[in-house]
Amino acid sequence: MDTKRNQRTIAAPAAIEGVGYWSGEDVRVEFRPAPVDSGIVFVRGDLPGAPRIPAVIEHHVQTPRRTTLRLGRATVEMIEHLMAALAGMGIDNCELWVDRPEMPGCDGSCMPFVEALRAAGLLEQDAPRRQRVIDRVIRLGNCESWIEARPCCSGKRVLRYELDYGSGSPIGRQSLEISLSPRHFHVNLAPSRTFLLESEAAEIKARGLGRRATCRDLLVFGPKGPIDNQLRFPDECVRHKMVDMVGDLALAGCDLVGRFVAYRSGHRLNAELVRAIVAENHSEKQLKHCA
Ligand SMILES: [Zn+2]
Repeated sequence: MDTKRNQRTIAAPAAIEGVGYWSGEDVRVEFRPAPVDSGIVFVRGDLPGAPRIPAVIEHHVQTPRRTTLRLGRATVEMIEHLMAALAGMGIDNCELWVDRPEMPGCDGSCMPFVEALRAAGLLEQDAPRRQRVIDRVIRLGNCESWIEARPCCSGKRVLRYELDYGSGSPIGRQSLEISLSPRHFHVNLAPSRTFLLESEAAEIKARGLGRRATCRDLLVFGPKGPIDNQLRFPDECVRHKMVDMVGDLALAGCDLVGRFVAYRSGHRLNAELVRAIVAENHSEKQLKHCA
């Protein structure tokens, strides 16, 4: 991604409707333009007083298999694909008015959001986008799964993901490295869909969740590959893990410049890395203030 650029918002409102995977509830998301330095903000228009939840790591709460924000009593969950669409296209300021806590699953990818935002058009704003340059290695996790941020000599944002379900799994091992740009994101990452194993889908259904989601709405892998569905890329799974990473890293609230490498990382570790980067930034500011 171009690391020295102006902030952007959308030129006009846009909306998208769908069903939440977990809750099965119908939900509508309306994207609205927002002024410079306002960031990405979710607004729960269905709750009294329309509470606002800025999409920053301070409001992140841990939930399984998805990314959730909470501020006071207001929650928004499954936000990662919306965040990825905005971050991937370089949209920094936007209000997302929603009428349910869970965001729509759509086809499992962030392409429907990207298309809605592209149709609205982008607007460059008269202020530079803040960025954070990674200047030392930060590594979290263990040998089973880990993520790290390290300085990047090219001054770009480079992402690498290594997915490993083991050689006996229908998903297997896949790896991908990219230098993030809006065009690359749109063409190569945005169409990739969320996925899970048949056993994981059965467990979710047994808990009474995901009643309206079918094998056509996301990728469910049986022993021989996707059930009742076809891959959009041979390595669609690792591409989608990268989409999740782009969405989660956006919770930093600024452009991160550096090299980000993940091995079997998920939303929890992604968020912990952002928390560590932001905390380091704060402690540096405090040191400068004391000096
Ligand atoms: Zn995802």
